[in-house]
Amino acid sequence: MEVSKQFSNRKKKKSRRRWAAALLIAGALILAVGFLFFHPAAEKEKTAQSPLDQAPSVISEPFSKAQSAAPPVAVSVELAGFLNRLNKQNTRYGWSDIRLTDIRWEYHRKTRNHHPLMFAYYGDETNNCMLFMGGVHGDELPTVYLMFRLAHYLQENPEVVKGRCVVIAPLVNPDGYLADRPTRTNAAGVDLNRNFPTRKWHSDAHRHWATKGRKNKRYYPGSKAASEQETLFQIALIKRFKPQKILSVHSPLNFFDYDGPSADLDSFEQWMEQISREANHPLRKFGYYPGSLGNYAGNERNIFTLTLELPTSDPARGEEYFRRFQPAFLKFIGLPVVGTPPNTRLVKK
Ligand SMILES: [Zn+2]
Repeated sequence: MEVSKQFSNRKKKKSRRRWAAALLIAGALILAVGFLFFHPAAEKEKTAQSPLDQAPSVISEPFSKAQSAAPPVAVSVELAGFLNRLNKQNTRYGWSDIRLTDIRWEYHRKTRNHHPLMFAYYGDETNNCMLFMGGVHGDELPTVYLMFRLAHYLQENPEVVKGRCVVIAPLVNPDGYLADRPTRTNAAGVDLNRNFPTRKWHSDAHRHWATKGRKNKRYYPGSKAASEQETLFQIALIKRFKPQKILSVHSPLNFFDYDGPSADLDSFEQWMEQISREANHPLRKFGYYPGSLGNYAGNERNIFTLTLELPTSDPARGEEYFRRFQPAFLKFIGLPVVGTPPNTRLVKK
């Protein structure tokens, strides 16, 4: 009896040890599986395998309050592909000093041809914002170079944006710009500087296009106001950053033009006359266009809006134009304006 009891106890101990070992193995297995499926690094690897499943980076978070430009720059697969394409174009145009991946781009919208509508901003987005835009017309090549260079400049000279915020959308019309033969209009044949939903767009835009524009396809205002993603993109930037000032670069008409709050337009004009003299670049009032940025932002929203028309659309002259107009850009950044649109005014010295 004693022997059999001892035997039975040994058997029980052995069985308990086996259970303990099994539990240990099961625990280890659960931990391993958990690590593989839920560990952030493992998650990252899974998403990185498929570009379509790419986890949204800081760049594609919907209108995030991301920090202003500072390395390292996170780039989605989609944006990396686009920047690569732009780099090839830059090389073709001889713009060897542009390093697109050094800039913290943000985008939320894409064009018909799936190109990101990107922008970068410098400084504190909550006050004294201004907006710079290039490449609104896709065949105005050096305008894009000027905006890339300005982005580099602001990144390297943060004191310029101290106490203010500068937003740069260097390429508003990537579809036109990246076409085999660059076009003024976007992929749908719409002139993006005639598509803004200005008050009289409905009654005037098509009539104006037929009479003054003689139905030239290059100036087609679209089937309705704000029909284009590129227009909505510019409107979204204006709504988010509430810029007091906008500078839009075009070519090749060779002048400065301006629009702004009618109550304060004389002061802006005086300031523009001085800038025009210093840059040795003529000042001209280009006239009224339904659906234009000057009308939408300057006349209807009291944003001080400056249009710079470069003398040519020759990409080889980008560097020369940047040197020539950089002082005007910096003066425009420094132009003191108070208030939020539509209650903006220049601060007189
Ligand atoms: Zn233009």
